Amino acid sequence: MINFGIVLLVFVLMEGFTWIIHKYVMHGFMWRWHADHHDPRHEHRLEKNDYFFVVFAIPAIILLYIGSTQGYNITFFIGLGIALYGMAYFFVHDIFIHQRVPFLKNTKNPYLKAIRRAHKQHHKHINKEDGECFGFLWVPVQYFKMYFHKK
Ligand SMILES: [Zn+2]
Ligand SMILES: [Zn+2]
Ligand SMILES: [Zn+2]
Repeated sequence: MINFGIVLLVFVLMEGFTWIIHKYVMHGFMWRWHADHHDPRHEHRLEKNDYFFVVFAIPAIILLYIGSTQGYNITFFIGLGIALYGMAYFFVHDIFIHQRVPFLKNTKNPYLKAIRRAHKQHHKHINKEDGECFGFLWVPVQYFKMYFHKK
């Protein structure tokens, strides 16, 4: 149960961490990797933005490996939390929201609709500056209200 708690905590922290990275790094000094993803004409095939996924996967793999050689200690479960977040991020952002693989396009799930709506709002800005809605799995409450309180 403690291990599950660690994974869950890391997963939640990763959403906050990713928000910061997205706002201050991807829309900051690493904009050159993120710009193609904000180009409205691109088709989300292979894009420079995917480098971020690789960069985040490396520490997760290292932690999983080190933890596995130490009898699956806390290091392993921190790595697992990061890895699971990375998978959720890729699934939600790249596959579901941007439809890199056609999937759940006509979902009625209010949570999925809310985060998609918020991320589309993020993509209304094609420049580095003046961004909004930098979160991926958690977005401003107003977007949840749009879909959860419908009668
Ligand atoms: Zn962005
Ligand atoms: Zn893209
Ligand atoms: Zn996007």
